[in-house]
Amino acid sequence: MIAKKALGLPLKGLRFAIKSGDTLIKTASTQITRFNENKTKSSLGEQPVAKRNYAHIDAPVAGSQEASIDMREFEFTKAPINWIPATILVATPIAAAIITPWYLFTHGVSAPVWGVFGAFMVWTGLSITAGYHRLLSHRAYKAHPIVKNFLLLGSTLAVQGSAFDWVSGHRSHHRHVDDRLDDPYSAKRGFWFSHIGWMLRNYPSGKFDYKNIPDLTKDRVLQIQHKYYGLWVVAMNVGMVAAIGWLLGDVWGTLIIAGLLRLVLTHHFTFFINSLCHMFGTRPYTDTNSARDNFFLAIFTWGEGYHNYHHFFQYDYRNGVKWWQYDPTKWLIAGLSKIGLTSELRTVDDTTIKHAEVQMQFKKAQQQIETATAGGIDIPHAMKNFQDRIKSEYDAFMQTVEEWQALKAKAIELKKTECADRLHEIDEKLKHDYAKIEQKILEHNSNLKTAFRSIGLSKKAA
Ligand SMILES: [Zn+2]
Ligand SMILES: [Zn+2]
Repeated sequence: MIAKKALGLPLKGLRFAIKSGDTLIKTASTQITRFNENKTKSSLGEQPVAKRNYAHIDAPVAGSQEASIDMREFEFTKAPINWIPATILVATPIAAAIITPWYLFTHGVSAPVWGVFGAFMVWTGLSITAGYHRLLSHRAYKAHPIVKNFLLLGSTLAVQGSAFDWVSGHRSHHRHVDDRLDDPYSAKRGFWFSHIGWMLRNYPSGKFDYKNIPDLTKDRVLQIQHKYYGLWVVAMNVGMVAAIGWLLGDVWGTLIIAGLLRLVLTHHFTFFINSLCHMFGTRPYTDTNSARDNFFLAIFTWGEGYHNYHHFFQYDYRNGVKWWQYDPTKWLIAGLSKIGLTSELRTVDDTTIKHAEVQMQFKKAQQQIETATAGGIDIPHAMKNFQDRIKSEYDAFMQTVEEWQALKAKAIELKKTECADRLHEIDEKLKHDYAKIEQKILEHNSNLKTAFRSIGLSKKAA
C-alpha cells in the first residue's frame, strides 16, 4: 500500500465496485444457490482472472500455460526490494520496541500524552476502516465532505499509502482473493507474505495501474493527497504530533508514544486483517475463499474481524452484520447517518444473509457424511435415513428460495407497489421458514455428531 509504481494489471474489479444495491442482492442470491455446483468456482461465481484468461487455450498448448504461470512465479522470487516502505516497516517496529520502554523508564509520560495516543489510535484505526475501506474501496455509504476529509486525514496519519494505492490494491484483493499470482496479499503465500511481506518487495501482484479506481482518480482532493502524499505524511506524523507535544509540554514523549508507538500498533492491527483474518476463525457464509469471521480479531481491527461475511457481501457497510457483533466502524457510520453526516448506507437484506448461512450448514452436514463415507466405513441405517432427510429438506429449501428469488426479480423489474406489498408478505413468511429450517439443521448436525461418535469418527467429522 505504501508508494507503489503504477504498471499495467488487468483490473476488472470495477464492474463489481459500481454495481447497484439491487444488482448486488440479485448477484448475491444467485451466488449462494450454487450448493451443488462446481466447487472450484470463486465466491463471486467467476474464475479468478489469471485462470480464466487461459480458459480458451486448447489442450495442445497447455504446456505454454504452465510455462507462463511458472514465469510469473519466477518473477516473485526475484522481485526487487521496495526500499521506502521496507525501511519504514522494518525500522519503526524496532525503534518502537527499543525507544518506548527506555523513554517510559527514564522520563515517563503524562496522562494527556496517553490521551492523545488513545485518540490517535481511534482516529487512525477508524479512518482506515470507515474511510479507505468501507467508504472509498467499497462505496458502502456516502459521506459528507467533513467526514470524508476527516477520515482522509486520519488515513494519512496511519501511513498506509495514498488512497489511490490502498483502494486499488484492496479491490484487487477482493477480485482475485487467494490467487497466488494476482491477489496482492494472497493468504496462499503464507502468514508472513499476507501480513507484511507483500509490501517489502515490488511483487508483480502489487503493481497497480489504477484502472479499477476511476471513481477516485477524478476526485480533486484525492489527487492532491496522492501527489503530495509524502509531504502530508511528514506534516501530520511529525509536524502535527510535535506541535501537540509542544502544547502538552512534552514534544519527545508525544512523538514517541502518540507518533511512533501508535503508528506501529495501527499498522499491525490493520495487517491482521490480511493475514490472521484469512487464517483463524469460522466460515458461516462461504468456504470458497480463506476469509474468516473472528471476534477476537474484530476487537483489534475495529470490527473488520468479521471478514468471511465481508468477502461474501463486500458492499454492506457492516462487517459484523448481527446487531450484537462488535463492529465500532458500523456503529460510527450508522451513528453519523442519524445526524445527516453519512447517507445511503448499503446493506444486504436479511433473507439473503440467512440463505447463505443455511446453505453453509447444509454443506457442512453433507461434508461430514462424505468424510464418513470416504473413510470406508459402512454408514449405519439411521445415518442413511439422516442423509435422505438432509437431501429432501435441502430440496424443499431450494424450492422456497427459488420462489423468493423469482418474486424479488419480478419486483425489481416491475417496481409496482402491489408487487412490493406481496413481496413484503412473502419476505415475512420466508424469514419464518428460514428460522424453522435452520433449527432443523442444527438438530440434524447434533444427531450427526452423535452418530459419528458412535462409529468412532468424532474427532474427524463432528
Ligand atoms: Zn481479505
Ligand atoms: Zn474489503
